[in-house]
Amino acid sequence: MSNIISGKELSNIILDGLKNKISKIKEKRLPKIAIVQVGDNSASNKYIKHKIKGANNIGMLNEYIKLKEDITQSELELQIKKLNEDTSVDGIIVQLPLPKQINANTINSLIYPSKDADGFNPTTIGNVVLNNTDIYPATPSGIIKLLEWKNINLVGSNVVIIGRSNIVGKPLANILINKSATVTICNTKTRNLEEIATNADILISAAGSANLINKNFINKNTVVIDVGANFIDGHYCGDVNFSEVGEIVKYITPVPGGVGPMTIACLLENVYKLYLKNN
Ligand code: NAD
Repeated sequence: MSNIISGKELSNIILDGLKNKISKIKEKRLPKIAIVQVGDNSASNKYIKHKIKGANNIGMLNEYIKLKEDITQSELELQIKKLNEDTSVDGIIVQLPLPKQINANTINSLIYPSKDADGFNPTTIGNVVLNNTDIYPATPSGIIKLLEWKNINLVGSNVVIIGRSNIVGKPLANILINKSATVTICNTKTRNLEEIATNADILISAAGSANLINKNFINKNTVVIDVGANFIDGHYCGDVNFSEVGEIVKYITPVPGGVGPMTIACLLENVYKLYLKNN
């Protein structure tokens, strides 16, 4: 289908570019990402495996710190403080979700903005809102790159985002506002969701609800970005009923092979950017 926006293809272009730049580094020190995981969540294990593989493929150093499920807030904070002070580390990520005893906001606030590869620290988010940074949280960054890659107009476009999370919906909405899009952010309490969605030029679904987006949400000019990552009976799928809407819409990202690989590429790109700033 010619209306597919392949995140796999664009992420490979980004990763090849990073690999090329890292291979030319003359300084003694190479960029390094530290990945912190608490517990043994199976989806997290899978995502981290991809992040480590991606880092290895481009020649980026990586350190994987897997901590026990029942770690205390202060023990985890100590770990973050150590990584903050470790001059060999350029980017730190703490894989979400975290167990109930951990306050994720406090942990993200603790990561130095200069090492904030995921872009979840309040300072980083503030700079995104103020249009004062080139480091965006990885998933919103990947979505913007996909849209710009296909020359999809953002200026004056109606963009509808389903989902208002701190990691996708909120930062993405702010980036799009700064690019002069007209943005509507929806949540589970939104009334007339289908009607709002059908008026979108660009519909971005980050709800985490398989098959939410069907033909009642789209028209033939809609660009659909599917952020959802759902496991249904062991099958990995997005929020969009792809077989129902895929052939109608103007553009669509597949799952797998859409936003997911872009998130990893943009995360590693963030680490490389932080390396350049810190070196
Ligand atoms: P979340 O899970 O924290 O929250 C979901 C949001 O969607 C909430 O704001 C909720 O109000 C809204 N929502 C849920 N169902 C809705 C409905 N039926 N109608 C309207 N609004 C609805 O959000 P998240 O952490 O951004 O994750 C969203 C999805 O995106 C999940 O499937 C997650 O796994 C996926 N995700 C994928 C990537 C990737 O790289 N592919 C990255 C991040 C998140």
